[in-house]
Amino acid sequence: MGTEIETERLTLEEIRDLAHRTLAAHGADEANAAAVAANMVAAQRDGSQSHGLFRLPKHVTSLRNGKANGRAKPVVEALSPSILRVDGDRGYAPLAQQTGLPALEAAAKEHGLAALTIRRTIHFAALWPETEWLAERGLVAFAVTSSPPYVAQYGGRRPVFGTNPLSFAWPRPGGLPMVYDMASAAMARGEIMVHMRDGHSVPEGTGVDAEGRMTTDPAAILKGGAQLPFGGHKGSAIALMVDLLAGPLLGEVSSLECGDEDNGDGSAGLGGEFVLAMDPARFGAGDAVARGERLFARLMEDEGARLPGDRRHRARARAEAEGGVDVPKVLLDEIRALA
Ligand code: NDP
Repeated sequence: MGTEIETERLTLEEIRDLAHRTLAAHGADEANAAAVAANMVAAQRDGSQSHGLFRLPKHVTSLRNGKANGRAKPVVEALSPSILRVDGDRGYAPLAQQTGLPALEAAAKEHGLAALTIRRTIHFAALWPETEWLAERGLVAFAVTSSPPYVAQYGGRRPVFGTNPLSFAWPRPGGLPMVYDMASAAMARGEIMVHMRDGHSVPEGTGVDAEGRMTTDPAAILKGGAQLPFGGHKGSAIALMVDLLAGPLLGEVSSLECGDEDNGDGSAGLGGEFVLAMDPARFGAGDAVARGERLFARLMEDEGARLPGDRRHRARARAEAEGGVDVPKVLLDEIRALA
């Protein structure tokens, strides 16, 4: 049984201000603090609990111990007309994305398809902000990033993959895009942390303990155990694909290599992100987006089904209508002490 957690209602501006002040107090400059704070506001607004303010104390740890550069000045360069690269300068991903995404949009619209690689960045966030941003501008988008090893491969017991998420977004005329964003682990690590904080157990299949036995205890998985990929060998293969795209393809570390540099202090690891953008008008169909709409309409005829992203977009509408969201008191106390 979980325990009821006490919450406090904050406006989105109050969340932005708290995140910004806390990051600035620990050495982030205006541009870096503003980019991360905006990312956290979006996560809180959309009900992405595990990637909003919840991540702020870990951001502070990495700023304090110098692993994250709070004064990062990301720079974008073109490796070819359709392959762009941002050097994240050891900073958090939101500013590196702000630097690279407009150039990616322009290149995809000019050439039909373009890729953005981000190196030397710390991706502590959800992936949907970048794919949704591109899809809101009419592009089909795909993004992956890897992280330190927490997940066992199918048939193994040792953590070898990050929770290696991938996101895909499809533009919709006059509305919010269809966006999915998922870890290739059975459960995102942040979600397991939230379960542990709130005294909840996790579903069977989420992970194993230090002896490789299935467990529903989040603490046993997080401390010495390993998470499991979703869907057995299929999720394991997706985690491998993400590892290759976000690591070796870009000249960046794999999850295992990222783990080699982890001293276990809970701060972030440097790594890469791969983002692909495609202009649906350039693939010969002429009416790709309209065809997508016809497909969505057929899919939604099935009672009980919904499109990925709908829960998040409903949470957004609620937060905007109510002017704020509820944040766990225990988390706010922790952050206010840091700010
Ligand atoms: P979920 O399992 O909660 O959701 C995965 C996707 O499935 C979402 O797009 C969700 O849409 C959709 N979905 C869920 N239920 C349904 C349904 N009934 N019908 C249709 N679609 C559905 O996500 P995860 O826990 O796997 O991941 C959570 C977050 O963690 C992601 O944002 C991911 O990017 C992030 N993450 C980040 C990492 C990093 O290193 N930066 C590492 C790992 C994860 P909806 O949102 O609308 O529910």
